[in-house]
Amino acid sequence: MMKAILTLNSGSSSLKVSLFPVAGETPLATGLVDGIGPKASIRLRDHEGAAIPASGDMSSHAAAIRTVLAGFGSHWPDMTLAAVGHRVVHGGADRATHALVDAGLLEELATLSPFAPLHQPHNLEGIRAAMEAFPGVPQVACFDTAFHRSHPWVNDTFALPREFYEQGVRRYGFHGLSYEYIASTIASQAPHLAAGRVVVAHLGNGASMCGMQGGRSIASTMGFSALDGLPMGTRCGQLDPGVVLYLMDQRGMSAREISDLLYKQSGLFGLSGLSNDMRTLEGAGTREAAEAIDYFVFRCQREIGAMAAALGGIDALIFCGGIGENSRMIRARICERLAWMGIEIDHTANTANARVISSDLARTSVMVIPTNEERVIALATRALAGLIDKEAA
Ligand code: AMP
Repeated sequence: MMKAILTLNSGSSSLKVSLFPVAGETPLATGLVDGIGPKASIRLRDHEGAAIPASGDMSSHAAAIRTVLAGFGSHWPDMTLAAVGHRVVHGGADRATHALVDAGLLEELATLSPFAPLHQPHNLEGIRAAMEAFPGVPQVACFDTAFHRSHPWVNDTFALPREFYEQGVRRYGFHGLSYEYIASTIASQAPHLAAGRVVVAHLGNGASMCGMQGGRSIASTMGFSALDGLPMGTRCGQLDPGVVLYLMDQRGMSAREISDLLYKQSGLFGLSGLSNDMRTLEGAGTREAAEAIDYFVFRCQREIGAMAAALGGIDALIFCGGIGENSRMIRARICERLAWMGIEIDHTANTANARVISSDLARTSVMVIPTNEERVIALATRALAGLIDKEAA
């Protein structure tokens, strides 16, 4: 009998899934359900990229989860589900580790929805749906904020009256599952760097940076929400709060309109007037697309400097995320003006998308490490659901 762990990343109308063997670290399959509702589509693939047929009711999250598992079940008839791991954007101020789900935890996490209204309710909907679809199967919540709870106070607070900090208005930082993966990969594959000062640039449709010392998060560019820091596909990144006051007071925009502007109309998309997709912008050839890339590169350089200052220096810069892992041009351009930090790229290695792309003589290592948030969820789920011991028994 094959025992498997399902990982779920639930959005408002989408579900990203992976299936891991309980005793392994490489996924057996991945998949995506899009447009949950009457017209949903589903795509499941095995580890070699071959399609796994699946169809059925996907009118709700619970129905979609059952359809996903039925698809995997007909491909691997001897499979049983041992546990489900969920990506949850917000774990609050006190949770520095992932957790087994029970009714009390679900209630606690629901109180955090006002902090992440665009993501948290959908993540929790995914947990409830999986509990309904697979009663009795352990569920584990993995938090994007957990890795950053090691922030020292100066990187955890805003200069607002203190009661706001006590009420939870803090720099939580996000993309924690990605940073956790990178930290564990450095520890196993580049142990000479693990104790050092490492800046990780997770550059994808969402983008942020994390400054790590000894494998722990010291600072991050994302703050209270996933809007702060770097410009992203459609999110603005760092913004003077005075702009928000102006939009409300002088332009009469509502909170909902401002939220739509900052989350969905800004960033690379807003600046280019064309696309949120870096590949499209790299090939566009318009002045606006070029300027959007210029702004992205500049803000990355600035934040690498800020992270290095927070760490008191830098031993390694690591790129990950769709842009960081694939765009040779963006990596080269970001590093171009960082020679003062000991950063110098080997262009042959960079063009080849090699793992180490710094030149031999450079003081600071520059690496490309493909991130793997699903693996972090699967391993945490395996440990918290007690599956390692049961397998050994
Ligand atoms: P992610 O959100 O991590 O999946 O990253 C998505 C972003 O990565 C999009 O902006 C893509 O255009 C970008 N991306 C993926 N592959 C490439 C590539 N080969 N060159 C440039 N950008 C890429």
